[in-house]
Amino acid sequence: MRAESQPMPPKISAPPSLTAFAVIVAGAAFASAGAVVYFFNPSTHGFYPICLFHALTGWNCPGCGGTRAVYALLHGHFSLALKDNALVVLLPPAAALRGVWFATKRILHRPVGQFFPAKFLWPLLAVAVIFMVMRNVPVFAFLSP
Ligand SMILES: [Zn+2]
Repeated sequence: MRAESQPMPPKISAPPSLTAFAVIVAGAAFASAGAVVYFFNPSTHGFYPICLFHALTGWNCPGCGGTRAVYALLHGHFSLALKDNALVVLLPPAAALRGVWFATKRILHRPVGQFFPAKFLWPLLAVAVIFMVMRNVPVFAFLSP
């Protein structure tokens, strides 16, 4: 048999995927940003960027108070974090649920598609706009930072 006498070609493993690299870089960036926010209180340190929307209009955008909410969360003050920015507090658990769903489907070798498909953008934008309008109305003043 000729096939048995020939040496086997070396196995070439696939290079690490770009997605894995992006996940590692994003994770490192989130961890670094979290460390900065953890050690430097946004209420007392002025090097954090200001909200241009708030500076120009005086209204709170969906992200206003987000850094302070992250600081409060990192220090275990959940109710204060909710007061600073409820959207920033509630979005990570939603993303985590999506991550669990996504990972479960991958483990079960089911088709998963994209982690964040474009069809999620409009509902997320609608939630952000509704949240922004509500936190600028006096009745929902408890939503403003
Ligand atoms: Zn803002």
